Amino acid sequence: MPEKKIKIKVQNLNREKKSSKIKKVKKTKIALLVGRKPKVAIVSLTSCEGCQFALLDLGQKFLDFANSVEMVDFRLIEDEIDRGKKLDVVLIEGNPVTAENIKTLKNARKRSKLLVAMGNCAAMGGVPEIKNYQEKTNTIKHIYKYLQGIYNPEIKEIDNFVKVDFVFPGCPINAQEFLQYMPELLVGKIPIIPDSPVCVECKKAGNRCLLLDKKPCFGPMILGGCNAVCPSAGMMCQGCRGLRPNGNVSAMRATLKNMMTEEEFENVSEIYGLRDDIEEKSVKMI
Ligand code: SF4
Ligand code: SF4
Ligand code: SF4
Repeated sequence: MPEKKIKIKVQNLNREKKSSKIKKVKKTKIALLVGRKPKVAIVSLTSCEGCQFALLDLGQKFLDFANSVEMVDFRLIEDEIDRGKKLDVVLIEGNPVTAENIKTLKNARKRSKLLVAMGNCAAMGGVPEIKNYQEKTNTIKHIYKYLQGIYNPEIKEIDNFVKVDFVFPGCPINAQEFLQYMPELLVGKIPIIPDSPVCVECKKAGNRCLLLDKKPCFGPMILGGCNAVCPSAGMMCQGCRGLRPNGNVSAMRATLKNMMTEEEFENVSEIYGLRDDIEEKSVKMI
């Protein structure tokens, strides 16, 4: 065999050895991470449980996920007592309203490597936060005849009590996103949801933009990932997935001025706890 060919063969052999070494290292690293099943808990505070049901709606796909982890606590699928084991990932749904909720939340943080807000209520206060913007007694008097002795605290997002590592946005969450991002969380990585507005998916769906017909929509300033379900059904996006990190809130507000009054803008932004985030962002932008 000519010398040149032998040289190339040796180089190829070295390359193969090197790549199999890299593969081995990668395999070992992954094996270390998945040497045991990651321990996961899904904990619900005060909520409608809609986000948990969004997971159950995945059917077999959710059962496959549940089999790939050690599900330490998820009250919708088992009634075994949670023995307080250490966790890799805990998902929190709902609002910390009662003293018991706050204790559960703080305890979950202590037990888990990663804590994830699951849905709009946990991340942004959600629909219950509407009462923060109204005079509190005005809202509860629609429910209780006698107000004396009724505990009526202000609604707060979970990050007022504990560090939050990641948020699954939406009301309810997008269960496909759960399947997409959980594998990263299970190996201790924090996923990044692309900063893309609802409008991108809305355009992909072939919808005519509501703004063109002078109908209001929050889409441009809201984080996409919901397949633009509301505008696809002819309804404005009300922002349940929260503000985009780089959305231009002031420009959006100026655009919507021709389509809704300031009061209407505030009312819509209260539905999913968006109002305080908008106010905070507007202050920062000034
Ligand atoms: S985010 Fe929506 S679906 Fe999820 S718990 Fe809150 S109200 Fe229910
Ligand atoms: S309808 Fe709303 S979400 Fe769709 S393109 Fe227009 S502003 Fe964006
Ligand atoms: S379109 Fe807007 S309100 Fe509707 S699900 Fe998506 S983010 Fe939420």
